[in-house]
Order: sequence, then C-alpha cells, then structure tokens
Amino acid sequence: MKSMKKVLACLAVLALILSLSACNSSPAGKTQSKKAYIGISMPTQSSERWIKDGGTMKEILEKRGYTVDLQFAEDDIPTQKAQIENMITKGAAVLVIAAIDGSTLSETLDQAGKDGVKIISYDRLLVNTEAVSYYATFDNRRVGQLQAESLVEGLKKLKGDGPYNIELFAGSPDDTNSYYFYQGAMDILQPLIDNGTIHIPSGQTKQDEIGTLRWDGAVAQARMDALLAAHYTDGTILHGVLSPYDGLSRGILSALISFGYVPGEDLPVVTGQDAEAASIKLIISGEQYSTILKDTRDLAEVAANMVEAVLAGEDPEINDTETYDNNVKIVPSYLLEPYIVTKENYKELVIDSGYLTEDDIK
Ligand code: BGC
Repeated sequence: MKSMKKVLACLAVLALILSLSACNSSPAGKTQSKKAYIGISMPTQSSERWIKDGGTMKEILEKRGYTVDLQFAEDDIPTQKAQIENMITKGAAVLVIAAIDGSTLSETLDQAGKDGVKIISYDRLLVNTEAVSYYATFDNRRVGQLQAESLVEGLKKLKGDGPYNIELFAGSPDDTNSYYFYQGAMDILQPLIDNGTIHIPSGQTKQDEIGTLRWDGAVAQARMDALLAAHYTDGTILHGVLSPYDGLSRGILSALISFGYVPGEDLPVVTGQDAEAASIKLIISGEQYSTILKDTRDLAEVAANMVEAVLAGEDPEINDTETYDNNVKIVPSYLLEPYIVTKENYKELVIDSGYLTEDDIK
C-alpha cells in the first residue's frame, strides 16, 4: 500500500514537472494572449464609420484567435460606462475605446489600469487618466488643414476671386478631436481672415459658439437655419461653410437649400469628413464639395497590432510621442494619413480602394 502511494506521489510530481516544462517551452505571453478576452467600445452606430471600425477590428482580432466583445453605446455616456465596466467584470485583458466624452471614463479606467487591464484609445483621445497605454488615430490637425484647404480650393473654383463669406462649424466639445480639427483648419483660414480674403458675417469663431454637441446633424442644421435668418436676409451671400463631419454637412446643406440656395447654381461650398456613402452621393451630385477619407480599415489594423503588442509585453509601432497630451501624460500614438475626397478623385480613393462599393453609393 505504502509503495502504491509512493508511486502515485511520484506520478503526480512527474505530471507537475511535465506540465510546467510544457508551459515553459512556449512563450508565456503568447499562450495567454491567444485566450485573451478583448473589449471594444464604440460610441454609436448612428454614423457608418464606427460600425466599420468596430466590425473590422473584431474580424481581425477574432482571426488572430481572440475572443472579442464589441459594444456600441448609442452616444449615451452612462451606457458606454456601464458597457465598459461589464467588460472589465467579465475579465477583459485589453480595452479598445472610442469614447463619447473622453473625460467621463477616467475613474473607471484608472481602476482598471491598476487591476492590470491594458487600455488603448481609439481615434478619440481618452483624457484625465494615467491608464491609457497607446493611442491609434489619424493626424487630426492635418484633417482640419485638409478640410480648410479644400474649402479654399472650392471657393476659388466656384465662387470667383473673393472676398468670401463663410461660416464655421466645429465638432462635439467633449471630443478632443474637435479642437485638433479646428486648430488645423485655422492654420489655413486665419491668415486669410487676417488679410480680408475671408469674412465670417456672424462673427462666430469660438468653440462655445460653433461646437456641435454629440456631432448631431440636427443641431448643425438648426444652427445653420439660425445663422441664415440672423445674418443673410439682407442680401449678404454665403459662399462656404467649414463643416468637420459629413453628418453635419448634410444637415447644413438641408438648411441652405431650404433657405433658397440652389445646387449647381449658388449653393455654398461645404466640406465634410468620413467619406460616408450618403455624402459621396452628394459630392457626385454636386451638393457637398468635399469630404475627408480616413481609412478605418487601416486604423483597425493599427489598433489590433497594439492589442497584440501590449498582451505580449512588447512595444507597438508608434510614430508620435509629442502631440497628444491627455492632461496626465503624453500618450504615445500612431497617426495615420487622411485624404481630401472630391468629385474628381472619389472613384480612385473611395471606390477603387474598396472603402465603399458602387452599390453603397447608388
Ligand atoms: C472622428 C471623426 C467623426 C466624428 C463624428 C470624430 O472623433 O474622428 O471621424 O466624424 O468623431 O463621429
């Protein structure tokens, strides 16, 4: 009996040694990471891009063997917080977050960070938290510069030599991107305002005047209606509108057309962002002048690579360590390139690249 016990004890020790050496023979990080549960939190499904962003990231990560929980918060801050807390409770190893309001998650994320959860800020910067490891985004200031460059190009092309009357719209005040877009736009527009080439008849240039809460097209449309009623009923002609997002551009265009501007005749030059199918159609029909393509497939890939790197304890590829101060630290970032899209190049940039299909824009 005694010897039987000895044999069993020896066998147990042997099994333990074998299982330990099996673990050691494969890199611990990799073994763990393949089982990792990744939480992806996107702000809303009301705009095409976030559906595409979330979907592409989920596909890439699932192909690489991860379990992915993708949630959309429908632009409701408490919903996003609850979804993220739920992911943390379920044991998320990494969270990839595009916040509705980048400052509202800081306590939750600080705690998660202390508990070892890795956090990646996606497209929009998470502020007031130490816990964010990396930021995957586009060159947001460049986005604003391109929007303003295309506005100026459109004005010259369609509205003669100037001077030009324009109005300015900014994005949601709780999204840091709004400030970078606006700053970039002003890099181009301020010198033209200063030398008298561009006038802003409403005089509205401050964020609290021009911001559009939650990037809501209806809010932009109502503000455009109000601007037209207050500053353009005396015969003053509006030549252009700086709009930072296609969803706002479509609201602005509706207001302009209801006021009496006619597409193909005197409709102001209106910019945009995101290359949404509905806006590409308007670009083809000559209503919206331009948009900005930010290829979310590339962004999703960058973020997925960041996920793998942090799980393996490695440093992901980054190309900016100076720009994105989140009030606690400068977040190491990877910035992708944005592109101006107009009637002239939409086919090549948006369709031939596979970003949208011909069917999407029918
Ligand atoms: C994104 C833009 C988008 C906007 C509204 C911003 O944070 O960078 O691409 O148009 O949010 O969804």
